[in-house]
Amino acid sequence: MTDTLETTQTLKAVLFDLDDTLLDWSDEQTDWLAYEQQFLQRVFDYICQEVHPLPDMQAFIDEFHRLTREGWSAGRSTFIAPHLGRILVQAAEASGAPTGCLDDRRCLEVYGWKAVPGCRLFPEVPAVLSLLRDSGIKVGIVTNAYQPMWMRDVEIEQHGLLEYFPDCRISAADVGYLKPHPAIFRAALKVLDIQPEEAVFVGDNPTADIAGAQAAGLRGILRVTQSMQPMLSGLIVPDAAINSLEELPRILDEWYPGWRV
Ligand SMILES: [Mg+2]
Repeated sequence: MTDTLETTQTLKAVLFDLDDTLLDWSDEQTDWLAYEQQFLQRVFDYICQEVHPLPDMQAFIDEFHRLTREGWSAGRSTFIAPHLGRILVQAAEASGAPTGCLDDRRCLEVYGWKAVPGCRLFPEVPAVLSLLRDSGIKVGIVTNAYQPMWMRDVEIEQHGLLEYFPDCRISAADVGYLKPHPAIFRAALKVLDIQPEEAVFVGDNPTADIAGAQAAGLRGILRVTQSMQPMLSGLIVPDAAINSLEELPRILDEWYPGWRV
């Protein structure tokens, strides 16, 4: 019994959701459809010039939006993650490109994703991540993105986050499953070579982040954002709730006395 207790009281890693947990989207006011048009235009031009001429840009965009909605809608019940690259390929094929001629990685490279204007790092994030790193605690990112992680890495690097997460950055598109499915949490634990009870998860979405983490055996800390107050149903009870990541070290002090070096 003593061994078990000691094991459960050791903190080895803190895993974070990305959007609205590390990145602050509250001031982002982009007209998304107009903004996205530039990325889709690049993909459309690339396909027309280098693969196969497509008759109608608007038909490609409409098909892209339809498949995107369909992918996320299915994901809400199946937890199977949509994948931006595959959606682009499917939209092109539905718009006239020959089947099997397009590579989703190439389409995404052409798409040319970067940090979205108005999205910022929460100001307290670097200090908290530095404290965890200096205390020997591993950290990871687990995001429900439909972009492969190498695309989100472009943003993370622009926000100065990449240096804090050398080992574990997991996107749903890469794993194939969305939070709250346990597979995506297990993927992170495997990368860091830790057991669920050795990690806590911090995220802003009660279902995806908290219920998902808890079902996978991790403690779940709800990060309550001003922009999105959580709808707690009573069925999902976070192990702790914080308004800012500044409060995280204090929670860890209560659960894992002596975790700080
Ligand atoms: Mg989030």
